[in-house]
Amino acid sequence: MLKKMYGLVCSTLMVGAIITPGVWASATKVGTDEAVEVLGSDDPYYNMRWAWPTTDDTITDDYGDVGWRWHKGIDIGVTKEPVFATASGVVIQSGVYSDKVTYAMTIKHNDIDPDTGKNLITRYLHLEPGTLKFTTNKTVSKGTTIATSGKSGATGYHLHFDVNAKGMTYPGDYDTFSPWVFWPEKRPSLLNIDLGGDTQGQHEEKFDDPEYFFDFLLIDYVGKDEFFRWMDSIEESERTMTNFKKYFKLTEKDINKIMKTSLSPEREKKILGKS
Ligand SMILES: [Zn+2]
Repeated sequence: MLKKMYGLVCSTLMVGAIITPGVWASATKVGTDEAVEVLGSDDPYYNMRWAWPTTDDTITDDYGDVGWRWHKGIDIGVTKEPVFATASGVVIQSGVYSDKVTYAMTIKHNDIDPDTGKNLITRYLHLEPGTLKFTTNKTVSKGTTIATSGKSGATGYHLHFDVNAKGMTYPGDYDTFSPWVFWPEKRPSLLNIDLGGDTQGQHEEKFDDPEYFFDFLLIDYVGKDEFFRWMDSIEESERTMTNFKKYFKLTEKDINKIMKTSLSPEREKKILGKS
């Protein structure tokens, strides 16, 4: 409930800010004060004491209705900086998108959402290829470095971060909620927003379809070289899980079985390295 109220306040302000860039600073300031007041120290999300996901807090694109599209998370303007797990949990997705360059990781946290009763799930997009440190099913602690931020699948360097309470590995629009409930004190950093940055115009909506994400566990199973040979042999639009299963002769049952496995440190290191 609290997070919904907060999201509403933010999105209203965002629309105003986009239409009239001049009111940005003052509008954001009002939003900041109100948000802190609304959430306060009783905010259950704030009290989870999550770690901020990277080293800097300059926001290049906010959560929610940014005027011409819905943004599922926040974009943080970092270039090749460490990315941290915001809280303890288990990796439930670690892999590459069908464009061959976008790397992402998703963590299911031990913290339970007070609204839905489900585990909170966070996603980290546009990671630097070859820097991901964990494969699916590995546990991570709060503050663990999970990768280096990059610009894979984006025109400019930034970390896209989003959170959902619906148990979703690939959340669609409106499936996520405002991350600011975890860090109300970070909200003033929006005053540093870089509206002219080259990360403007990013579209993460395409990154919500499991058909186009290939997990490192699957890539390890079929062999890294064979996997990328397959990718290179077809058009990007043809690089789907359906075609992957067909080509490597894997059934849904096989996939489920592979996705439950855990790689040895040696195999993990090999599959996570630069391709
Ligand atoms: Zn984003």
